[in-house]
Amino acid sequence: MTETARVHQPLTAGRRITILGATGSVGASTLDLIAHLRKGQPDAYEIEALTGFQNTIVLARCARAAGAKLAVIGEPEKYRELKDALAGTGIEAAAGPDALLEAAARPADWVMAAIVGTAGLRPAMAALRPGTTLALANKECLVSAGDVFMRAVAEAGVQLLPVDSEHNAIFQVFEEPNRSAVDRLILTASGGPFRLWDRERMAKATPEQAVAHPNWSMGAKISVDSATLMNKGLELIEAHYLFDMPAERLEVLIHPQSVIHSLVAYVDGSVLAQLGTPDMRTPIAFALGYPERIAAPAERLDLVRIGQLTFEAPDFQRFPCLGLAVAALKQGRGTPTILNAANEVAVGAFLERRIGFGAIAGLVEATLMAAERAGLTGKPGSLVDVLERDRWARETAGTMLTEGRTP
Ligand code: NAD
Ligand code: MG
Repeated sequence: MTETARVHQPLTAGRRITILGATGSVGASTLDLIAHLRKGQPDAYEIEALTGFQNTIVLARCARAAGAKLAVIGEPEKYRELKDALAGTGIEAAAGPDALLEAAARPADWVMAAIVGTAGLRPAMAALRPGTTLALANKECLVSAGDVFMRAVAEAGVQLLPVDSEHNAIFQVFEEPNRSAVDRLILTASGGPFRLWDRERMAKATPEQAVAHPNWSMGAKISVDSATLMNKGLELIEAHYLFDMPAERLEVLIHPQSVIHSLVAYVDGSVLAQLGTPDMRTPIAFALGYPERIAAPAERLDLVRIGQLTFEAPDFQRFPCLGLAVAALKQGRGTPTILNAANEVAVGAFLERRIGFGAIAGLVEATLMAAERAGLTGKPGSLVDVLERDRWARETAGTMLTEGRTP
């Protein structure tokens, strides 16, 4: 009785928040959640810094609405534009890669890492400061720099909370004291927009068709990754580093309704899962409230209305990117760094209509083979090593593209 009657002081009071990649899809969900929470508790959060890449209008709008102290745009030449857009607000403006790092390193209690791609790696590393909680959406950080990143997290004593919905689900049902009794982690995947398409039809898919995800509304890159199933491959690698699980204990399960966000199977036969509607505000709220639970405005799950949950095995023939990622995970060392960089180039080229959907896997595979030949798949020992390999893989994939040597 006394326990329940206890006045409850939310852990969230007056917390300083920074959002890296505030102008993107996860950034928008984070800002929306915070705006919602502020209705009940206006001074619960202070927004230290928001960052964007090119869109000063959206960044300035977000910074004004959230009352941010600092807004940083990645493109240095956009400084004037941002400064003008923030005139009279008292919000500090800055631009360029170093300003992004400074924003990330500014003292904050909670930092959302939601930049897309390896571009977010250095900012996420800069945010690793004692006392900070890092909410990690940017999976490419872990794929590209897994060991280096996790070592830096441990050294800084940072609380790392996964925001990617599958990893957030696993985190919620992973019994750390029973780690040795974990049999498998099962990552669910919707199957993407081409789940039922044959290879010939898929090869001609347009960017518009690829980004039309059946269940989730997301940025362009992750949407294409979801269509190739590379996203699930990247997530297997992400899970390997986050939960320290070997490749043999990681599985993919196609679940078109995206209700079960992932599962943990234990040796006693129990399988624990986390369920919810496909709304990123739920995993973000989990990371923001942790270790408590806070209310999020996501639609409530209505299982009667959904009626049926179905499951399928992934098809490695039609989705070769998944196989490439699994092989990179098993090979380990520097291979995921190359896979990730080549995939970013391939997806970018597909979105620019320079290659077809069917050529994405081929370009990634060709880059991996070139890296093997060049002896560049050894384990990167430092961030510098990772960035060097990332640069090499981008350059190599880029050259194959311009020379028309894509398979
Ligand atoms: P998005 O494209 O909508 O947003 C990306 C953000 O990164 C934007 O703010 C953009 O301005 C910024 N950015 C892009 N390039 C940059 C650069 N070179 N330098 C600095 N900033 C840059 O992407 P998103 O869908 O919000 O995804 C962000 C990350 O979260 C990705 O790693 C993605 O895999 C992961 N994620 C997203 C979702 C989702 O629902 N969208 C779910 C799980 C994980
Ligand atoms: Mg995910």
